[in-house]
Amino acid sequence: MYKAKAYSAASAKSPLASTTIARRDPTEHDVQIEILFCGVCHSDLHQARNEWSGFMPTVYPCVPGHEIVGRVTKVGSAVTKFKLGDLGAVGCMVDSDGTCPACQEGLEQFCPNGTFTYNLPDKHLGGVTYGGYSDSIVVSDRFVLHVPSNLNLAGAAPLLCAGITTYSPMRHWGVTKGKKVGVVGLGGLGHMGVKFAHALGAHTVVFTTSPSKKDDALRLGADEVVLSRNADEMQKHASSFDFILDAVAADHDINAYIQLLHRDGNITLVGAPEKPLPVSAFSLIMGRRSLSGSPIGGIAETQEMLDFCGQHNITADVEVIPIQKINEAYERLLKSDVKYRFSIDMASLKSE
Ligand code: NAP
Ligand code: ZN
Repeated sequence: MYKAKAYSAASAKSPLASTTIARRDPTEHDVQIEILFCGVCHSDLHQARNEWSGFMPTVYPCVPGHEIVGRVTKVGSAVTKFKLGDLGAVGCMVDSDGTCPACQEGLEQFCPNGTFTYNLPDKHLGGVTYGGYSDSIVVSDRFVLHVPSNLNLAGAAPLLCAGITTYSPMRHWGVTKGKKVGVVGLGGLGHMGVKFAHALGAHTVVFTTSPSKKDDALRLGADEVVLSRNADEMQKHASSFDFILDAVAADHDINAYIQLLHRDGNITLVGAPEKPLPVSAFSLIMGRRSLSGSPIGGIAETQEMLDFCGQHNITADVEVIPIQKINEAYERLLKSDVKYRFSIDMASLKSE
């Protein structure tokens, strides 16, 4: 066991602050990573403030962070995939049982015994797992990914959650050339969704509540931008979409988007607002439309997504911040004021 520097929340109401945490010494299958950048996901905020108490109550102190890239500093004797000095990345999961049907299919995100990167029981040290707002992390090699060497590291970190969470449902629902695809909410997830939909060849439409994001949406790859609070603009797209990805972090009217789907179209929720969203039965029934959800993605698909990003030179658009600005960053997330992901430069933790 060794001590690592980190930032943690002590309660739902307290700002994050500097602390030290225990990390395990690497076992034979582990990789130790010096964290260089960690993205700031809206899920970090939901969890730090215990907004998902019904689903996964937060255990304090809570060290968020599941968009991790860094350098490998130690490997266990049985590790063959990584060596000292390699780049290594970790997303939302650090363990799974490896034996259940989901794991056998490479869908570790559905393993009933999976361990998220933070706030789930730590099988090694007791207590709960601690995330990437830290100077290092120790993770089983099965959950460490390779980062293509051409990618900017600050921009690559958000691929580990925002990237895979948008890539996976687009692949599942067959987003390709010739499809009309909507992305709702131009935040961290949404802007990655736009990049992927565009790279996969779809006609891509962004729905935003922020008129100021219109030019950016087009630059990021959108073919059209709709201001979702303008009913006339919305109505022009009625019954026309094959697929819509809803990446909104707060309460909103999803029925307004369901009625934009074509017959048999699908809307997938990746955004996870605190409160339930009412659904109009008739907008689903008339048109045999479907509403579904999707959590992150499996490890093999995460590597596929990273390799796709390497080939297409895709990274997140980031605002790099020192860890000392994390509380301000959370407040800005709540105001939809981020272009389009905060990425923490972990070197800033050295001065704590
Ligand atoms: P984010 O960067 O804060 O982006 C959310 C976007 O939603 C905002 O930029 C804004 O876009 C839009 N929005 C915010 N408030 C709104 C409101 N009241 N009405 C309509 N639109 C609103 O958040 P994120 O990190 O992308 O995460 C988005 C959600 O996905 C969060 O709930 C997060 O927990 C969840 N998530 C889920 C998974 C998963 O596995 N399913 C993984 C990661 C994150 P505009 O300004 O364009 O309107
Ligand atoms: Zn996330």
